Amino acid sequence: MNALNELRDFLPDDRTAALVTSDINRRYLSGFPSSAGAVLVTKSRFLLMVDFRYYEAAARRVQPPLEAFRYTRLTDDLNRIFLEENIKQVYLEEEAVTVSYFHELQATLIPEVLTDGLSDQLMKLRLCKTAPEVEKIITAQRITERAYTEVLNLLRPGVSERRIAVELEHLIKLYGGERVAFDLICVTGENTSLPHGVPSDRLVREGDFFTFDIGAVYDGYHSDMTRTVAVGHADEEMRLIYETVLQAHLNAARAIIAGNKVADVDLAARETIERCGYGEYFGHSTGHGVGLEIHEAPAVYKTNLTLLRDEMVITDEPGIYLPGRFGVRIEDMYLVRGERAVDLAEIPKDLTII
Ligand code: ZN
Ligand code: ZN
Repeated sequence: MNALNELRDFLPDDRTAALVTSDINRRYLSGFPSSAGAVLVTKSRFLLMVDFRYYEAAARRVQPPLEAFRYTRLTDDLNRIFLEENIKQVYLEEEAVTVSYFHELQATLIPEVLTDGLSDQLMKLRLCKTAPEVEKIITAQRITERAYTEVLNLLRPGVSERRIAVELEHLIKLYGGERVAFDLICVTGENTSLPHGVPSDRLVREGDFFTFDIGAVYDGYHSDMTRTVAVGHADEEMRLIYETVLQAHLNAARAIIAGNKVADVDLAARETIERCGYGEYFGHSTGHGVGLEIHEAPAVYKTNLTLLRDEMVITDEPGIYLPGRFGVRIEDMYLVRGERAVDLAEIPKDLTII
């Protein structure tokens, strides 16, 4: 319940409340998934407000000091609480509330609504993961690894990208994933030069690269991994590109040190690739935070001066993409821990030839 305490500390006084209505942040604060509801934080109370459909499950799940509260009509019940507690101002999530919902709340809630800082505060809280959050991300990663290891047995000339993607999705669910973390990227041959390629009917051929960018969701938390493997053999240029991307990945990983800037990680990867003459073929950022969302703060880019702190989870995913020919990306999640980040993946990064 640390995040709730920190959110309470964010409130300037006991006449101000925070109303968290987005699915993701409501789940973050309560640990309870639901399709509607709110978390209300005041100086004296933490309430998970849900309707009849969710109340019993929420009451069983939430732990003090968070209380489950059943509402009939959310704004009416909120106003009752606001009057009881003499709340004069309420923060809304400026990045999550739609314009129409904002107008509705502004028209119906008794306190003045504020839209400056709650989303930002929640984003900052979510940057550093708790031990249970890290465990869930690791579990999602292990599910992905198990599915990946099994699907490699199917990878041979003649199999389609689509078949591999469908098998992976099936196995991720079979092994305990709630769902896949995003539309899985399973591409081969010339399609590997498309960083966000969509699985097609293209058949694998001898001498192709095959890129898997895959992940699972476990109890709301995501995982993200990319491997590029060669089918049958890899020619000299393919090996050179692979080694360059691997060095970029490893150099970036060495820069994941608490106290470094996020930008340092991006630059470590970018400079490695530029030194080898492929700078123009690496057009995306080096990574991103991972958690309740597949892409969350911090964006690992050369202009992001955010400092890395212990317990952040970020990806390291440089790539080189030669248009119309092939591409290579290697991605893993790292947990920031002092001088040496923890690699959350157990799948080797060296070039695998199937
Ligand atoms: Zn990925
Ligand atoms: Zn990623």
